[in-house]
Amino acid sequence: MNLSEYIRNIEDFPKAGVHFKDITPLLANSRAMESCLQQLMDLIGTQKIDKVAAIESRGFFFGTLLAQKLNAGFVPIRKPGKLPYTTLKEPYKLEYGMDALEIHEDAIKKGERVLLHDDVLATGGTARAACNLIENLGGEIVQCNFLIELEFLNGIKKLRNHSVQSLLKY
Ligand code: AMP
Repeated sequence: MNLSEYIRNIEDFPKAGVHFKDITPLLANSRAMESCLQQLMDLIGTQKIDKVAAIESRGFFFGTLLAQKLNAGFVPIRKPGKLPYTTLKEPYKLEYGMDALEIHEDAIKKGERVLLHDDVLATGGTARAACNLIENLGGEIVQCNFLIELEFLNGIKKLRNHSVQSLLKY
């Protein structure tokens, strides 16, 4: 199934100049969801995964489904102040200003094999911060896995030392 038919382009959202990739048409179609999950699984192949870590909030949709399929645990990586237990925090640069991501300090054990998942790889700053959190807990990143990669933003450069796989490239 060609999943690009289920991705809607929204110009100038949330601000001027951004070509936003809206995945809600995909989420609204159970056959497209099923096909997307299978195609994401095909990117992973037979690699053993202990934990799937996904980035708030659109990474959670397929992150939990992937974790179930892989018989792995699910780990949410969230914006500051959302996780209730003791956290590790990683600040990162946005186009304008700073943001940060957090992870529970006991979410990943040393040596665990981790798949990082998010919906979109854009400039790569978000995924890089998530990788730093996972690695600071001693996790081994097996793959950075995305639905969509915006190749013209060259986010892959920030993830240079990792295997990066995405279903749809623009
Ligand atoms: P970046 O740190 O620039 O790679 O941005 C990645 C994060 O921002 C992901 O969590 C995406 O959900 C979101 N994002 C960035 N750009 C877009 C876009 N054009 N369409 C949809 N989501 C985006």
